[in-house]
Amino acid sequence: MDLSTPVTYLKGVGPQRAVHLEAKGLRTAADLLTYAPFRYEDRSNVKPISELAPGEMATVLAEVRSVHLPRFRRRNVGLFEAFFTDSSGARLMGKWFNAAYLKNVLEPGVRVALYGKVEFDTYSHELAMMHPEHEILRGDDEDGDDSLHTGRIVPVYEAAGKVSTRALRTILRRLVDRIDVIEDAMPPHVLMRMKLPGIVDALRDLHFPAPGTDLRLLNAFRTPAQFRMIFEEFFWLETGMALKRRQAQIEIGIAFQLTDRVREQILKMLPFKPTAAQKKVLKEIALDMASASPMSRLLQGDVGSGKTIVAAQAAVIAVENGYQAAMLAPTEILAAQHHANLSRVLAPLNYTIAPLFGSMSKKEKEVAKRALATGVAKVAVGTHALLEEDVEFNRLGLAIIDEQHRFGVMQRKAIQQKGVTPDVLVMTATPIPRTLALTIYGDLAVSVIDELPPGRKPIRTFHKTKLELELVYSFVLKQVKEGRQAYFVYPAIEESETLAVKAAQNAFEELSKHVFPQLKVGLLHGKMKPAEKEAVMDGFKRGEVQVLVSTTVIEVGVDVPNATVMVVENAERFGLAQIHQLRGRVGRGAEQSYCVLVTDKLSETGRERIRTLVDSTDGFYISEMDLRLRGPGEFLGTKQSGLPAFRIGNILRDQEILELARSEAVNFVEAPPSEANLEEAIRYIRENWQWRYGLALVG
Ligand code: ADP
Ligand code: MG
Repeated sequence: MDLSTPVTYLKGVGPQRAVHLEAKGLRTAADLLTYAPFRYEDRSNVKPISELAPGEMATVLAEVRSVHLPRFRRRNVGLFEAFFTDSSGARLMGKWFNAAYLKNVLEPGVRVALYGKVEFDTYSHELAMMHPEHEILRGDDEDGDDSLHTGRIVPVYEAAGKVSTRALRTILRRLVDRIDVIEDAMPPHVLMRMKLPGIVDALRDLHFPAPGTDLRLLNAFRTPAQFRMIFEEFFWLETGMALKRRQAQIEIGIAFQLTDRVREQILKMLPFKPTAAQKKVLKEIALDMASASPMSRLLQGDVGSGKTIVAAQAAVIAVENGYQAAMLAPTEILAAQHHANLSRVLAPLNYTIAPLFGSMSKKEKEVAKRALATGVAKVAVGTHALLEEDVEFNRLGLAIIDEQHRFGVMQRKAIQQKGVTPDVLVMTATPIPRTLALTIYGDLAVSVIDELPPGRKPIRTFHKTKLELELVYSFVLKQVKEGRQAYFVYPAIEESETLAVKAAQNAFEELSKHVFPQLKVGLLHGKMKPAEKEAVMDGFKRGEVQVLVSTTVIEVGVDVPNATVMVVENAERFGLAQIHQLRGRVGRGAEQSYCVLVTDKLSETGRERIRTLVDSTDGFYISEMDLRLRGPGEFLGTKQSGLPAFRIGNILRDQEILELARSEAVNFVEAPPSEANLEEAIRYIRENWQWRYGLALVG
């Protein structure tokens, strides 16, 4: 047996269990070994029922005495109750809602381990556990006798389909007993310096902690064994990132010249005095572009912080050096907006700018492609259409990618390959918490615009319920009477874009006919034809449309300074970062702007989310909260978000380990004990981690 042995060959795993394990991504012995328990229970210190006190978390080993499914007013509510006793003779009740199925599991006579919070049930005047975790103890079966499952600290695993925590515990016990031969891939000097245990000890203690291990430490994932396994996962990722950065430095890119003429052209183009923050990042980018190694830089800046002008400046450097620049945006609306903005900003320089969108006619596309291939067009702006194979550039020197987290790593690579090692500037308006930045963008240098252009008044944000809509309407009416404009936005949830369109259409009917019959109301949604969208947007920009009803198609990039009210309906259905983006559509002019978040009933977290937005306009703070409240996957919004699939590490819980792993990784790559060590590491990452981390370029 070795680490790559398929699970089917392991003792205790038959073909049926293998199917369930594989469905959970557990294909090999190594997969199982890194399938960490999500919790540990101290069953060496099990309490007799007679000694339980309300309020404590406890484990008891008990037997089912009787069960019943109470009905209320003859309605079956799925409540399942069971009474347990143990050798102390005392009685404990377990209560589960929506769990009628348990009657086939917890039958009288069955022995179980129960874990949960002890409460005093005021209804029955008994000690009870609500929804305790339960594990059936079988005495003796294919998964061993109870000595593995009781009388010690036991690992609790998330079940893999029909493979229960008990079965996993047994399989892992057998596996862990046979791993004394596996080789430790971690560089020994790193283990020494960090005082980390070797792989065999770490794996054994991860799954079967030694007696007396501190349970709080275990459940905080901070025993030496857990620390090592988390550290290792981050270490290889960050080593991969460091290798990528090193490789990029060695690679020969374009050394753009920053001549007086280039400087003159930039000054000629700049429409206003850049803020100090803009100046700082302009300089960072210019220096990167002037160096011979290809730029890989992330430009972060809150909505409205003025990233466009920075991108335009980078484009000028490229074009004045005889190269082309391309700007890639995730949606057509945003690409169109960038096209309009860049055309305006670059107008004094007379560059030919070619737009390339999916919705353009074949003929229009041909014209744009020819202009790019011949080099007549200096700047390209477009959507995914720019990535298509038949799009060729004459001399692409700079690729600017906006809203990168919606693009995968592969797309970044695709646009890069349209030139010969062009410089790459990634822009994002969703501030990315540092942990995520380190894991997804760890191979990029980072510039931050941390200042808004002068004269902006902070947007005031209010929370209103559906019942208070009349108030919202009269507020909007007042603003419009004063010459301002307003947005009403309805959520588009990925699965049900159609529903969102419906909601927006209904709202449009209601608002235009009944609420604001005297105003000009426009409708904008993703299912409209590009020309229709364009017409509505133009009307809004010119101020003819006073109230714009929309799905989230306006989420990014739209710039109408006269709009001062953003009403977000069903705000509870949006992500925080998304609402922050929407809110950034107002507050772009000199007038005081407002954002109104309208919600239905809210859950506790829902309330906290809305409060975050009402209290703060700081994009970084909001992002951090959003990440905490929703988790990394949801935060990034897509499966192809480029987030590595960590097994044990958790970027929310383990931020400080990530930082440590990163600095050790940088050290290791910059000053390895020997080149052979580094080469070995590269081989190891290629074989074991690359696919998981999407580190397409390592080595
Ligand atoms: P972002 O893309 O970062 O959300 P934009 O580049 O669209 O922001 O800029 C937002 C608005 O602020 C635009 O109307 C832009 O013209 C304006 N703006 C940007 N920088 C400055 C500046 N230094 N001084 C005045 N206005 C600015
Ligand atoms: Mg923008």
